[in-house]
Amino acid sequence: MVIVRGNALIGPDLEFIEGISIHVDENGIITNISKKQSSAKYVLPPSYVIVPGFINAHTHVADAFIKDYTYGLSLEEAVGPNGIKHSKLRLSSLQDKAESIRNSLELLIKNGYTTFVDFREEGIEGIRQLKEELDDFPIRGLILGRKHGEDDLLDVFEQADGLGFSDVFSINNESMTQTKILKENNPEKIIAIHASESMETISESLTQFGKPDIEKICEYPFFDFVVHATYSNENDLSLLKKNDINVITCPISALYHGLKFPPIALMLKSKVLLGLGTDNTFCCNPDPFRLMAFTLYSARSNYQNVSPKEILKTVTVNPGLIVKRQIGQITEGYSGDFIGIDLNSPNTRYSKDVYSALTMRAEPSDIGFQMYKGKVVKWKDQK
Ligand SMILES: [Zn+2]
Repeated sequence: MVIVRGNALIGPDLEFIEGISIHVDENGIITNISKKQSSAKYVLPPSYVIVPGFINAHTHVADAFIKDYTYGLSLEEAVGPNGIKHSKLRLSSLQDKAESIRNSLELLIKNGYTTFVDFREEGIEGIRQLKEELDDFPIRGLILGRKHGEDDLLDVFEQADGLGFSDVFSINNESMTQTKILKENNPEKIIAIHASESMETISESLTQFGKPDIEKICEYPFFDFVVHATYSNENDLSLLKKNDINVITCPISALYHGLKFPPIALMLKSKVLLGLGTDNTFCCNPDPFRLMAFTLYSARSNYQNVSPKEILKTVTVNPGLIVKRQIGQITEGYSGDFIGIDLNSPNTRYSKDVYSALTMRAEPSDIGFQMYKGKVVKWKDQK
């Protein structure tokens, strides 16, 4: 049992409560949250706020080794089947790919993430490689695999935490039937897909299926969430809501690729659960602070009203609910994953409130305390 004490954002609504003791048992699970004074092992300074460990809801951690190489290129040239990304993955040694993955994992942890949800390329081999690297790092990686070459979809499904389809065109009758049965028997596995990332995707879907890709995706009974929905409209979002499919969007990635800023306000209004991801490491560093600030500024300039607290939820509470794991909030029964952030640093001091400070001012350097599954990853004041 370990006790962390300080000011914290508690529960699914991230309510700011001062002087709270959080008990985490030997399995890394929060067992008790109380105002009672108890002898805590970690007492955070009064200027700190404890927030749930950040969740990066969409990553591709293997492609760090082409950082910035695709800036200025089209989406197809960057991530298409014959684009720079897949060519580099095909031509690189296992060793080079391992180093690329490790670079992403180091960045994720340093920047305050305790969980990421990865669309892993390269089938079974890709899943195995990421799992192997994860053993050495204090972070939870939920791996959504995909079929590659001669891989059996069932093997991919068994070895990963679920499936991440690259787009609606990658589903054929066979994979559709298999996935349906697999999901029915294993509801805890996560099934996701890239959707409505560009106008080209939507046009191609209209040509092939006579309907936009989101509409087609909603006909399948197994998806937990779509990734991007950058070009989604009110109709798409209400269809997703009706089918209990949530949305992860990646605003920095969209703008990096020269696409439009996603309709964040409309997504929130539609009542789907919304999470944010940083997407490929090649297009931006996985940094929750940069992601939140960027999203809030871009929303403003796109006439979208979004509050700092709503955006804080998109990297904590919401993705936890979307992947149906006990993560992303400081609530009894949830994983003991926390970040302690100094609200009296030169960055954060004088900010209007805790939510604004965390989303628009804080930086990874303001993290003074980090815990993953009840084990300390960082503790600045440790003697
Ligand atoms: Zn992706």
